Parts: sequence; C-alpha cells; structure tokens
Amino acid sequence: MQVSIFVSPLLLRFESCLGFWYDEGMQIIDLSVPINGQTPVYPGDPPIKIEAAGVLDKDGFNDHLLSMGTHVGTHIDAPMHMLAGGKSLDQIPVEQFVGPGKYIEVKDSFSLDAVKAVGVEPGDIVLFHTGMSDHYSDSKYFHEYPVLTREIAQYLVDQKVKMVGLDTGSADIAEDFPIHKQLLGGGVLIIENLTNLASLAGKNFVVYALPLKLQIDGSPARVIAEVGS
Ligand SMILES: [Zn+2]
Repeated sequence: MQVSIFVSPLLLRFESCLGFWYDEGMQIIDLSVPINGQTPVYPGDPPIKIEAAGVLDKDGFNDHLLSMGTHVGTHIDAPMHMLAGGKSLDQIPVEQFVGPGKYIEVKDSFSLDAVKAVGVEPGDIVLFHTGMSDHYSDSKYFHEYPVLTREIAQYLVDQKVKMVGLDTGSADIAEDFPIHKQLLGGGVLIIENLTNLASLAGKNFVVYALPLKLQIDGSPARVIAEVGS
C-alpha cells in the first residue's frame, strides 16, 4: 500500500525507515532574488562588485572576487544587526532557519487580525506578501512600502515564531528601526527582499532560509519553500 504524506527532507530518513512514500507532487519554490552587479541595494549601502579572479580560457578555471554588503538581495538579519551584544549568525542554532511556513497576504496594510486568522504557532516562519517584490527595480521599493505594526511584532514574538519574512527591503520605515529591534530582541530573525511569495497562497509549506555561517550581523541566503499538495 502506498501512503501519500507530505514530509520534509529532514524527515526523509525517518520516512524511509518507516517505509512511507513521500508525495511525488511535492514542489520546491525559490523565494530568493538573483545577485549580480545590478541587484538593487538599500540606499546608502555599498554597491555590489563582482570581478573576475580567474578566467577559464586563461587560467583554466573561473573564479570571482565578490564585494557586497551583508544585507543585499534576499538575506537574513541577525540580532547583531541592531542590538548591542546581539548574536551573530553563527551563534544561532541552525534549527531556527527551518520551520513550518505561514503565508499572510498584506492587502493595504498589515493587520493583526490577518495574522491571528492563519493560526500562527511557535516555531513557525511567517511570510508576509505585500506585493512589493513586483517593484524590486523601481525607486519606490526602498521608499514607499508597508511595515509591520509594533502590536503585530509583539504578537509574533509572544507566539515564539522563528522568523518573519518580508518581500520588502526593510522591516522598518522609521529611522530608529523599532520593528527590527522588537523582533530581533525577542529572538525572531528577519528575512528581507523575498520574492515569489504569491506561489505560496493557500499552500502547506516548510521554509528553509539558510544564511552563510558568517560571524557577523547578516548574510544573503537562498530561501526556499517546500510545498506539499
Ligand atoms: Zn537586513
């Protein structure tokens, strides 16, 4: 008998022990933007530089020197980004970068009722789809975007979610970064500049948002969602 079950690859070891078959309809969705010399950067951040450090025809291999800020493209913010004495990425248990996903569409503005309606649970990775990713190359992307309220940020901290992900360039629009500080201070990591979130509407999914193991405040990440049928 074939049992159809949605299961994360992290569970596949156990699944194979139990003799289950995983759902062949499972799909992986890439929620990350590409990084190249034209990738938009947050106003004031250093430009991205990509220089050849080895050329195949000449050196026998391709290699590059890459220079960019740690908050470029789809990336993770660690507490060190905003808080004195805050943890750097390498100090965070790797389990915090993987968890069940919750999709929330932000219609005109962020709403606590919409957050409560999806039944956020401890350990979730909550992704907010504002639609700003459709404007990633427009100048307004980094200047006119909706942000979480302090009330919602506190609710997510109280619910003990692992991460909050956004398809905007920042969790804050205020210059003193209150939402960053509230989330990071409450143990909730932040993912910014997500894309493709519309693909997750109405789906069950697991998020993998793995930054480089840098001993600093942030890192670009390849963020994916594993979607069950
Ligand atoms: Zn950031």
